[in-house]
Amino acid sequence: MSDLEYSVLVDFYEKIEATSSRLTMTDLLVSLFRRTPPEVMDKVVYLTRGTLGPDYEAPELGVAEKLTIRAVAQALGLNVRDVEAAYKKRGDIGLAAEELMEKVKPATILDFFTSAETVSKKRLTVGGVYDLLLKIAKASGPGAQETKISTLVSLLKYAQPKEARYLLRTVTGKLRLGVADMTILDALAVSFIGSRSARSFIERAYNVHPDLGYIAKLVAERGVEGIKEVKIRVGVPVKPMLAERLSDPAEIIEKLGGSCLVEYKYDGERVQAHKRGSEVFLFSRRLENITNHYPDVVEMIRQYVKAEEVILEGEVVALNPDTGEMLPFQDLMHRRRKYEVEEAMEKYPAAVFLFDILYLDGRGLIDDPLPERRRQLEDVVEESERLKLAKSEIVKTPEELIKFFEEAVSEGCEGVMCKSLSNDSIYQMGARGWLWVKFKRDYRYEMTDTVDLVVVGAFYGKGKRAGTYGALLMAAYSPEEDVFKTVCKVGSGFSDDDLAQLPKLLEPYRIGHRHPRVVSRMEADVWFTPFIVLEVIGAEITLSPLHTCALGRVKPEAGLAIRFPRFTGRYRTDKKPEDATTEEEIVEMFKLQRRVSEPVASVSETS
Ligand code: ATP
Repeated sequence: MSDLEYSVLVDFYEKIEATSSRLTMTDLLVSLFRRTPPEVMDKVVYLTRGTLGPDYEAPELGVAEKLTIRAVAQALGLNVRDVEAAYKKRGDIGLAAEELMEKVKPATILDFFTSAETVSKKRLTVGGVYDLLLKIAKASGPGAQETKISTLVSLLKYAQPKEARYLLRTVTGKLRLGVADMTILDALAVSFIGSRSARSFIERAYNVHPDLGYIAKLVAERGVEGIKEVKIRVGVPVKPMLAERLSDPAEIIEKLGGSCLVEYKYDGERVQAHKRGSEVFLFSRRLENITNHYPDVVEMIRQYVKAEEVILEGEVVALNPDTGEMLPFQDLMHRRRKYEVEEAMEKYPAAVFLFDILYLDGRGLIDDPLPERRRQLEDVVEESERLKLAKSEIVKTPEELIKFFEEAVSEGCEGVMCKSLSNDSIYQMGARGWLWVKFKRDYRYEMTDTVDLVVVGAFYGKGKRAGTYGALLMAAYSPEEDVFKTVCKVGSGFSDDDLAQLPKLLEPYRIGHRHPRVVSRMEADVWFTPFIVLEVIGAEITLSPLHTCALGRVKPEAGLAIRFPRFTGRYRTDKKPEDATTEEEIVEMFKLQRRVSEPVASVSETS
C-alpha cells in the first residue's frame, strides 16, 4: 500500500503554524493533498485535525503529560527528572522532546536503528503513525498505561526531532493548528475537482456524512462520482439545520409566506437520535456521540419509536422530578460528567420533545417538505409521559403567534420556532436559513439576546487583575470568508473563579502571532487559535471604527461592535468556533435594533 512519509506531514504542520494568511493555508493543504496517495488521504486529514477519526466516533487522544515524559525519557535513555525539567522550561512536551533529541548524540540513535527489529522501516509513515496512535488511544483496562508508554516509545525511537515535537502534541491532544473543516473542503475542491467553487458540492456530501477523512478519501479516489453517492444513513449524524431570527411577529409570518408552523422552543440540549432495531445512538449539536449521557432517553426511543430504522431530531430537557416542570439548560450539565449520570437521572430526569425526522426505513426525508416530515414523525412516535412531539400549531396572524409565544414562555420555554410549511421547506443540513425563524421576546428590546463569540486574543490585566487577563478580544464568524472578525473586548461578567481559570483554559491555544483566520484592527497582547466560545451579552450593537465585524457593510470604514459586553457565565462547550454567531447575524441584530430604537446610535467608541 502506498503511504506518505510522516516528515512530509510534519513539514506541512510547521509551515501552517508559521503562516498568517488564510489563502496560504489553503495552498499548503492543496500541495499536501496532491502529494498524498489516496489510500492514506483519510489519515492525513484526521491527523491534521489532531484526531483519529470523525468527532462522533474517534477514540480520544489526550495521553497525560506525565506518561509522555516517561516515554520520552525511556526512548532517549534519559532520566525522567531531566525530561521534566525540559518540559517545565518549554511548557510544551513536544518542544522539550525535540530539543532533547537534538542534543542526544546522533550515534545513539543510529545504534538503535541498527539494532531495531524493523531496520527497513527507518522512517515513520502516516499510516504507521496513525495505527500506533490508534493503539495508544484505544488501550484500556489494566496494563493500558504500559501499552500507551511502550507504543509511544517505539514511535519516538523512529522519530526525527521535529517529528517528535508533533507526535507528542498529537498524542496529548494538543495539536491545534486551527485548520478549519471549510479550509479542508476548499483544498479538496481545488485538488480533486479543479476549482474552489466545487466546495459547495463536496460540502453537501460532508453535511450528510460529516467525516472529513471519509469524504477526502472518497473524492481523492473517485472524484465527483464518489461524492454523488454519499447518502444519509443510520449511525452517521447529519449536520443540523439552523434558524435565522426576527423580532416582529408580523414580519415572521410574512417572511414565511402568510402562515407557518410555530413550535415551542425548548431550552435544553439538541439531540439527533438514530435507531436501528434496538440499537440507539444519540448525537449532540456538534455531532459528538452523547448516547452515554442519556440512558433514559435511549430507552424511551427504543420503546416508543415505532420504526426499524429512523433518524429523529429533538430537544432534551431536564425536569423537576417533583413538579414535572421544565428546568433550565444548565441542569443538563450533570449529564456530561460520567460518574454523575446515574444520579442525574434521578435528580433531573429528562424529557424529549421531538421536532423532526430525517430518515425512515431506507428513505432519506431531508428533501421532503416539513408538513410531510411532520406527518411521518406523528406516525412513528407513540407519545408517552416524557417523550412527546414538540408542541406546535399552525398560525396565520401575528396575534395567534403572540398568543402561542406567551404560552410557550409561561411554560418555561425560551420562545418559539417558526417554520415554513411551503413546498420547498426541506431540511437544510448545516445551514442557517429563513425556513426556520426563532423568536424570543427579548429581541424587541435592544440587545438583550446573547451572542456566542470566539476568543481570539487577550489583554493583560492590571491592578486586581494582574497575573490574569483584563479583557478578551472576541470575534464573530464569517462562513463566507472562513475567518473570525472582532466585535468587542469583554472584561466584565467574569467571576473570580473564571478569572483565575482563564489563563489556564486559554494557554493551550496561545500562539505567537495573530492567527491567519482572525481579522483584527486591534493589537492584542496575546493571540489565540480560535477555539473557545463564550456567551456574551451587551447593551446594544453600535458602529465602531475599531472592529472588523461587518466592516464597511453599514457605513464605510466602520465595523459593528457590542457596547458594554458582559460574559454571561456560559462557556459554550457545545459549540465549535465555526458555530459561533456569524457576522451576518450581528448585522441582522443591528438592523432589528435600529428598527426598535430609532434614531440609531452614531459612531461611538466601544469597548
Ligand atoms: P443556533 O442553534 O441557532 O446556532 P443556539 O445554539 O444559540 O443557536 P438558539 O439560537 O437559542 O440556539 O436556537 C436554536 C436551537 O433551539 C436549536 O439548535 C435547538 O437546540 C433548539 N430548539 C428548541 N426547540 C426547538 C424546536 N421546536 N425546533 C428546532 N429547534 C429547537
